[in-house]
Amino acid sequence: KHADTAMYDAKAHGRNGCRYYNPELTAEAVHRVELEAGLRRALELDEFIVMYQPQVDARGGRIDAVEALVRWRRADGSLVPPLDFIPFAEECGLIAGIGARVLLRACHDAAAWMRRGLRLRVAVNLSPMQFRAPDLLERVCEALDRSGLPPGLLELEITEGALMEDDARTRATLAALRGLGIGIALDDFGTGYSSLSYLKRLPLGRLKIDRSFVAGLPDDADNLAIVRAILALARHLGFRITAEGVETAAQAALLAGLEADSLQGYLFSRPVVATEIESIAARGWTIGALDRVG
Ligand code: C2E
Ligand code: MG
Ligand code: MG
Repeated sequence: KHADTAMYDAKAHGRNGCRYYNPELTAEAVHRVELEAGLRRALELDEFIVMYQPQVDARGGRIDAVEALVRWRRADGSLVPPLDFIPFAEECGLIAGIGARVLLRACHDAAAWMRRGLRLRVAVNLSPMQFRAPDLLERVCEALDRSGLPPGLLELEITEGALMEDDARTRATLAALRGLGIGIALDDFGTGYSSLSYLKRLPLGRLKIDRSFVAGLPDDADNLAIVRAILALARHLGFRITAEGVETAAQAALLAGLEADSLQGYLFSRPVVATEIESIAARGWTIGALDRVG
């Protein structure tokens, strides 16, 4: 059994290697089995909840969109953050079920806000596996039909990892989604496999500047150079820009001064439950554009 465990570890590290058994490997294997069983049960018991983080229009200072962010609420009331289970759910194939729930929930919530007079775009994260699934379009259309959400109020966030394979198919999928009127945002821009050539070829609508580049602004000269370059690139190619991880008024002012379209981060709000969005949306922010950015 131990030899077998070591063999799996060797395979997981790219095959054609040599690994020794150690007890941690057993512990890890047990953890994975438990996590998978837990996620299956969570799907049955409907334990996934969707929270929403506002995106603020950098010019008007009002919320014009929210990003849907999943959490796993366990029976004991604890909230498991997405990075603790999404990558694993992607590996074991459970992401399809979880992702479908999130998409439907987000469309329903945004449609409910719209019926009460609050038009907000809702952004939903798609993992690479969801993006490549043959039934993606069907799922998206189903969620729009069932919720009554207009396609123009849905945006799908994909990462650079989703764009790496099969260019013709990627392009066809993106074109079909755009053809329906759905927005596409490239999440965590600049942190993945950044082949700039796809920016020219693929029908994307928005780039999201990763929060690692926003951190340390306005003083971090390297990040400032990167953010300026991304904004110039986006402007030239006709993409909208959302900056993530905006935590301070100085960051917001700098980004507004550099003409980012929208801002997202703890400065405005942490992710909140759907029922809190209406009161947050009633507020406005004054984003004093920093003049020293020139
Ligand atoms: P993301 O799509 O880049 O989402 C932004 C993450 O940054 C969220 O973390 C959000 O809570 C966090 N964040 C927002 N503003 C700030 C800030 O000002 N400072 C800091 N330090 N962090 C901020 P969260 O909710 O833990 O989600 C992490 C990642 O998990 C997401 O990154 C996304 O990649 C993934 N994820 C979340 N929900 C889903 C989902 O439904 N499906 C898929 N496939 N992935 C999801
Ligand atoms: Mg995202
Ligand atoms: Mg991101």
